[in-house]
Amino acid sequence: MQMNTESPPAQDESSLGFFGQVNRMFGNAAEQTEHPLGVLYQIRACDNIIRFEFPIKRDDGTIQVIRGYRAEHSHHKKPTKGGIRYAPNVNVDEVMALSALMSYKCAIVDVPFGGAKGGVCIDARNYSQDELERITRRYTFELSRKDFIGPGTDVPAPDYGTGEREMSWIMDTMHQIGDDDLNSLACVTGKPVGQGGVRGRTEATGRGVYYGIREACSFEEDMQELGLAPGLENKDIVVQGLGNVGYHAAKILEEEGGANIVGIAEIEGAIHDPTGLSVDDVVAHREETGSILDFPGAEDIETSAKALELPCDILIPAALEGVITTDNAPRIQASIVAEAANGPVTSQADDILQEKGVLMIPDVYLNAGGVTVSYFEWLRNLSHVRHGRMSRRFEERNAERILRAVDELTAEDFDEDLLETLIEQVGFGASERDLVNSGLEDTMAQAYTEIRDVRKEKNVDTRTAAFVSAINKIAQSYQQMGIFP
Ligand code: NAD
Repeated sequence: MQMNTESPPAQDESSLGFFGQVNRMFGNAAEQTEHPLGVLYQIRACDNIIRFEFPIKRDDGTIQVIRGYRAEHSHHKKPTKGGIRYAPNVNVDEVMALSALMSYKCAIVDVPFGGAKGGVCIDARNYSQDELERITRRYTFELSRKDFIGPGTDVPAPDYGTGEREMSWIMDTMHQIGDDDLNSLACVTGKPVGQGGVRGRTEATGRGVYYGIREACSFEEDMQELGLAPGLENKDIVVQGLGNVGYHAAKILEEEGGANIVGIAEIEGAIHDPTGLSVDDVVAHREETGSILDFPGAEDIETSAKALELPCDILIPAALEGVITTDNAPRIQASIVAEAANGPVTSQADDILQEKGVLMIPDVYLNAGGVTVSYFEWLRNLSHVRHGRMSRRFEERNAERILRAVDELTAEDFDEDLLETLIEQVGFGASERDLVNSGLEDTMAQAYTEIRDVRKEKNVDTRTAAFVSAINKIAQSYQQMGIFP
């Protein structure tokens, strides 16, 4: 099926661009569906995009003009949703690609949003906190003026180079310029807990990466094909990027999954220790020395890129897009590539890895934990009540009642100390974090099962199966709206 009619004929990685890469993957999946071409074009198209420039005053008194973007890929569900990244190379192609990935991602995990993405062309490390605040507030103001932000319109979240701090500036700016909208807290997610954020959001993407990899490794048949034992225990893992996503994914894989983190890569280079690295010790070392290099007991690797080629079971690129290309794909030794970052593997490199028999766990599925928990945060903001607040005591008393009833029925045998311990330990209602994590775990498990079923049914790779699942769900939304047959 000819989906890329506007792309140049020689489709090497650079000429295709990031949006072209995503559309190439979309095209592969579209061929596996039976939707009319017009429906597929509509699903693939990027609905709205803005580019704007604004001045900010630097701390030294000079004026600098900053460029910002926001793309809303699909309005089949409202609001649209997607992160804001601060990076010097942000461009129109990138935000369109990332917003498209958001649409597919939301569909895959059944989060009722369209996809969006924004960006500001700055290297955040070169700006003071005050300057970053001025940039963030002005960027928000511009989005608001153009109707590209609001609880039912478009809801940003953190991405590369932004975090809770920026999200709280965005919310505060919206409060200042807005009216008394009761739902204004829901105009942005990834906020600090004290300002309407939800417990578990900060680590949600990394935790979702953990659940996704755990799910993929749980199928004995799939692991056998790779020559691996099922489960995560003692799997050798290399992680690129120790930021929000990479850090939490690596830490949870190590602490809850029992995996062996044998390599970590950051901007300054990488470290390798086949006996296993403690993620928190590496972070502490970096804070102390300013670098992950020279970590006691580990071997230094000159560049972050070289670390991708280390021997391991699972490779997790968790920093940037386009780090695995046709150039280095033949040298990748991992059996599983788990895309925690957005678009880390080019579509052509993906072909090479598939041919090598590597199991790809695609970004459109694997890093959906962030948007899933953002959805929980948005729901919390709209309902104006903390998850679990209404039910926690009730659940606690219910558990106690059940235990007391069991005690009465087995009065002669039940040990009173054991009963007290059980009431204390088991009879505890679910906290907001428990609910968020369990909702996230269920979402990731359910979505993986759906993707795996499509993969088996159509005999396609995991990425194509994930896109097929997304396309079918978005097409169904359009059908339900009566827009398409
Ligand atoms: P972040 O800014 O918190 O961390 C990125 C890390 O990568 C930083 O520590 C940075 O120093 C490091 N890095 C940059 N260039 C590198 C290189 N060449 N080699 C090794 N490390 C390098 O960003 P993040 O939020 O963790 O996002 C990482 C990726 O995950 C991005 O692709 C983003 O789009 C994606 N993602 C993030 C979220 C989220 O909730 N934050 C959700 C979905 C997807």
